[in-house]
Amino acid sequence: MNNNIAYDAVVVGSGPNGLAAAILLQQHGLNVLVLEARDTIGGGMRSAELTIPGYVHDVCSAVHPMAAASPFLSKLPLEEYGLSYVNPSILAAHPFDDSTAAALYAGLDETATALGPDRETYLNFFKPLVEKWPAIADDLLGPFGFPKDPLAFARFGLSAILPAQLLARKFKTKHLRGLWSGMAAHSMLPFSKLTTSAIAMVLTINGHLKGWPIVKGGTQMLANAMANYFCSLGGEIETNTIISSLRQLPKTKVVLFDTSPTQLLQIAGHTFSSIYKQQLRRYRYGMGLFKVDWALDGPVPFTAAQCREAGTVHIGNTFEEIAFSEQQISKGKHPERPFVLLAQQSLFDEGRAPIGKQVLWGYCHVPNGSTKDMTTRIENQIERFAPGFKERILARHTTDTEALENYNLNYHGGDVNGGALDLGQLFTRPALRFSPYRSATKGLYICSASTPPGGGVHGMGGYHAAKKALLDIFKININSSKYFM
Ligand SMILES: Cc1cc2nc3c(=O)[nH]c(=O)nc-3n(C[C@H](O)[C@H](O)[C@H](O)COP(=O)(O)OP(=O)(O)OC[C@H]3O[C@@H](n4cnc5c(N)ncnc54)[C@H](O)[C@@H]3O)c2cc1C
Repeated sequence: MNNNIAYDAVVVGSGPNGLAAAILLQQHGLNVLVLEARDTIGGGMRSAELTIPGYVHDVCSAVHPMAAASPFLSKLPLEEYGLSYVNPSILAAHPFDDSTAAALYAGLDETATALGPDRETYLNFFKPLVEKWPAIADDLLGPFGFPKDPLAFARFGLSAILPAQLLARKFKTKHLRGLWSGMAAHSMLPFSKLTTSAIAMVLTINGHLKGWPIVKGGTQMLANAMANYFCSLGGEIETNTIISSLRQLPKTKVVLFDTSPTQLLQIAGHTFSSIYKQQLRRYRYGMGLFKVDWALDGPVPFTAAQCREAGTVHIGNTFEEIAFSEQQISKGKHPERPFVLLAQQSLFDEGRAPIGKQVLWGYCHVPNGSTKDMTTRIENQIERFAPGFKERILARHTTDTEALENYNLNYHGGDVNGGALDLGQLFTRPALRFSPYRSATKGLYICSASTPPGGGVHGMGGYHAAKKALLDIFKININSSKYFM
């Protein structure tokens, strides 16, 4: 890094939020530098040959309902820079012990009809939300404020705030209850907690509007497209640069941290007020992940046909079983039969594996900081719904919470959502402030998944933080921007 060059803005970290922030600032004529700790860019959007040469695995994120539906990312010309989404025929499937399965299809009606006796319940609940989503999304995917369409927002919010176990009572069939539990488990909270319905609703609604796509060639292609677009605007990126002190940074008017609050505190804490420091210290991280990537000799031999055609498979049988698994983890235990999330990218993107072979991506939740090897329990769960699965394994690569944290300094204790997504931290992450993106020091901002709207590849934390910095420091009002209307 040439410390003699003066920048308008420096972004620390090249995850989706860091790159989104950098793009927005660069689009407005600023001179922006992105600094990344690792040797490649992308944060949670990387792919690599983790098992055998020729098998392309998504190291972190694999399935992208949030990116496809992101109000910011979806408006960038990323296709011109190599991004191409592939939509599986069935978005997500959920097998049961009796060899049947529930499924989320792109079509509302198709999904509802397959749920039989729960058809009307499903339509009554989701149809109005899908129709009103464009009015709700902008308010939901940002800091808390007065909604543009209060009625639509209230309709969503009054259900979204409820514990998933309460809303599940609406559903008659084990199929819809199971499907719902797989969606709610993305909250990484026990289903008795407030707001666990929110993520289930967002993922389902986005699925009906934009699908649950995977990225052709691997998620890294999304990172590359964002980075190449940013550079085409004149932005600069430097890798292999871990920032641990403000003194390392070149001269700049603004710094945006795509980092955890813990790191922000370590790097810039000496400039903060004691109240803000205290708030950052109290920030809570959530469950961790244990991840396995497999190279397979053929597709996963699921008994239920829907699972053989789905991009994502939620494994855990009934609502009750999955609720128990998530409850156990929140108590610091490791369930014998964990809820397992699988993505079958190579079924839809042939280039991910040699002809006739497959890659499989999967994880289960574990207590924060756990180093327990969950490989056998995860594989037993898959074998339960796909007898013969284990015989197809050619190679595997495992990642526990310690390895996750070593890989990305933001994943404290293996929490990949940037902090617990409970009511106390949903809109006020990382601290209760007028703007959660502003730190207590002028010119320093946080833009990572530890800001609203939280984890996932959508770039909206980065967008909102950059928007705030543009107004505060450069007096540019984004609402009149030609790039983002
Ligand atoms: C196993 C796994 C599966 C996931 N699956 C999905 C999925 O299917 N769909 C989905 O939408 N989301 C998924 N996620 C979550 C998603 O990847 C994250 O929520 C998202 O990437 C967060 O984006 P971010 O920009 O805030 O931070 P990150 O993506 O974490 O990027 C932060 C970047 O900053 C760098 N950095 C950190 N500290 C420093 C420092 N001090 N100096 C310099 N650089 C630094 C890091 O190296 C990293 O590159 C998954 C995550 C994991 C780990």
